[in-house]
Amino acid sequence: MHASGVLTRRFEELFGKSPRIYQAPGRVNLIGEHTDYNDGFVMPAAIGLYCNVAIAKRSDRVLLLHSSNMAQSTSINLDDPGLARRGQWTDYVVGTALALEKIGCRVSGADILIEGEVPFGSGLSSSAAIEVAAGYALLDLAGLPIDLLQLALACQRAENEFVGARCGIMDQYISAHGQADHALMLDCRSLQSTPLPLPEDVSLVVCNTGVKHSIAGGEYNQRRAQCEDGVKRLASVLPEVRALRDVTPAQLDEYKKSLPETIYQRCRHVVTENERVQQAAEALEAGDLARFGELMAASHRSLRDDYEVSCAELDIMVELASRQSGVFGARMTGGGFGGCTVNLVRSDSSQQFRQSMTRQYESRTGIHPEIYVLSAANGVHRAAS
Ligand code: ADP
Ligand code: MG
Repeated sequence: MHASGVLTRRFEELFGKSPRIYQAPGRVNLIGEHTDYNDGFVMPAAIGLYCNVAIAKRSDRVLLLHSSNMAQSTSINLDDPGLARRGQWTDYVVGTALALEKIGCRVSGADILIEGEVPFGSGLSSSAAIEVAAGYALLDLAGLPIDLLQLALACQRAENEFVGARCGIMDQYISAHGQADHALMLDCRSLQSTPLPLPEDVSLVVCNTGVKHSIAGGEYNQRRAQCEDGVKRLASVLPEVRALRDVTPAQLDEYKKSLPETIYQRCRHVVTENERVQQAAEALEAGDLARFGELMAASHRSLRDDYEVSCAELDIMVELASRQSGVFGARMTGGGFGGCTVNLVRSDSSQQFRQSMTRQYESRTGIHPEIYVLSAANGVHRAAS
C-alpha cells in the first residue's frame, strides 16, 4: 500500500474518520551555512524525506495531536488563555497555529496524526518539516488561501517565539518552496530565491554521523551573539553595515584590528561563505561540478576552523568522502556539532559510495551511519490519500 494509504488507515483507527494528507520535506543545505541569520545567501534543496500529517476538522477549537514518532497524544485548546510553551514536540504545531492566527488566519480545531521520516536533530530540519506540514494543513483545512512565504515566516516565528529556538528563515522557506531536481539560491534579506537545476546524473547523499553533541544549542546562540557583536563593532566604522551580509572580505581585512580575534574569525566565516554561495551558484549554472565541490570543501574548512562548529565525527565523514570515487564535494550541513554531511555524488557511484562509507566510518568511529541517497524534492503539498 502507498505510504499515505497506511497513514489514512491509522488515522481512521485512531479518530474514526477520514483524513486529508499533507507532506512537507526536510532539507539539506548544499552551501551557505550560518549565513541565513546574517541576512546572507544559502543554497538548500528539499529532500524526499517528509513529515506526513493526516488531518480532519473538529467542530471545536481543540487540536488533538498524535505523533507516531513520539507515541504520544496531547489535547490543546486554542482558546485556552493560558496557552504557553510546554517544552515538548507539540509546541511546534501549536506555535505554528498561533503564529498563523496572529497574521489573521483563523484555523479550526482538528484531529492530527503526524508521522515524520526526517531524523530528529540531525541537521535535516525535522522541525521545519513538522511546522510547515501542520501549518499548510491547517490553512488548507480552513479553506484559506496559502501564501508560501507568509507560511514560512509564520513557522519561523513559531520556532523563534513559541518553541524558543533562534533559527533563521532557511529551513521553513525551503520546506515550503522546494522544487524537485532543483536547489534554491535564497537571499535571506530580500527573501527572493532562484531555482538552480541540479544535474540529472548527480545524487544528494546524506551521511548521518549518528552523533549530536549536547553543546549544540548553546553554541548556536553564542555564534549568533558573536556575529551581532561583530556587526556592532564594524558598524561603528562602516555606518552602512546592518548585517554581516553588508561586509566585503576586503573591508573585513581592513578593519580586522577593531575586532577581537574570535569575533574576527566568526565574521570571516560568514563573509567568505556568502561569497562562496554566489560562486557556487555560478559554478552550478556553468555545469562546473568540480568547482562546486571545491567550494563545498572550502566551506567545511571555514566552518571547522573559523566558525568552530564542526566535530571529529563530521570531519571524519568529510575526509572519508573526499577519498571515494565519483564524489564532487562533501561538507557538514546544518548547525553543526554532529548531524549530517551532504555529498554531491555521481548517481552511478552512489551505491558504492554508500557501502564504502558505511564500512569505513564504522571502522573509524564504531558508529553505524545512516546514509541516504536522495534527490531534490518538491516543497509542502497535499498528497493523494
Ligand atoms: P532538526 O530540525 O535538526 O531535526 P530540531 O531540534 O530543530 O532538530 O527539531 C527536532 C524536534 O522537532 C524533535 O525533537 C521534536 O520535538 C520535533 N519533531 C519533528 N518531527 C516530529 C514528529 N514527526 N513528531 C513529533 N515531533 C517532531
Ligand atoms: Mg530544526
